[in-house]
Amino acid sequence: MTSRIGVFGGTFDPIHHAHLRMARAFAAELDLDQVRLIPAGQPYHRGRGPLASPGQRLDMVQLAIAGDAALSVDDREVRRAKPAYTVDTLRELRRELGEAAELWFLIGGDSLAALDSWKDWRELFRLANLAVAMRPGFDPSDLPAEVFREWRTRQVSDFSNRTASGTIRPLALPPLDLSATALRARLAAGDAVDGLIAPAVLAYIRQHGLYR
Ligand code: ATP
Repeated sequence: MTSRIGVFGGTFDPIHHAHLRMARAFAAELDLDQVRLIPAGQPYHRGRGPLASPGQRLDMVQLAIAGDAALSVDDREVRRAKPAYTVDTLRELRRELGEAAELWFLIGGDSLAALDSWKDWRELFRLANLAVAMRPGFDPSDLPAEVFREWRTRQVSDFSNRTASGTIRPLALPPLDLSATALRARLAAGDAVDGLIAPAVLAYIRQHGLYR
């Protein structure tokens, strides 16, 4: 049987409840064999980069998904000395999985709106299918014209005809208003974060003095 692999890349600074529920919905809605979370390595630009180190963000992803058989963590971008572009990671995965495998890449609606700023963004559709998790306020008509064209033409309603790459699928999962930015602000202010982050990740944050 053709393997169905999902990939979810992010800064995960830190990984939070919205990430976990979208990763799980991704696996369930698309009937994937496996979802790999890939924390980003070093950022391209200094200044606006992550606050936790790549190794710490990787540790937190590992803690958050422990015991969830559908999810795994892939450390290839963290291990790389140089920053990784998504298209390069997908090229590498496609080489490893072969041409027949169904490869899915998951992004949030806000990332979709910026897709045309990604390196070789059109090649993403040659390499993988795209799943999109809605974010509050997402409106397809706000997408840049060229991304909107892909959004309109690549959606397939009939899922009996699955392909290795090239389609777009919005997840049915209702949007949730939570970002790592908002979470870091709550942590810095000493506000409660119950339910917004995995307890083991919160313990790690406290232990390492992150986001104070
Ligand atoms: P930050 O606030 O630091 O920008 P973030 O919460 O958006 O962080 P990232 O690690 O940058 O988290 O996101 C990884 C991916 O998850 C991106 O594709 C992003 O769009 C998506 N994502 C994050 N939070 C949500 C959410 N609440 N709903 C839908 N997608 C989300």
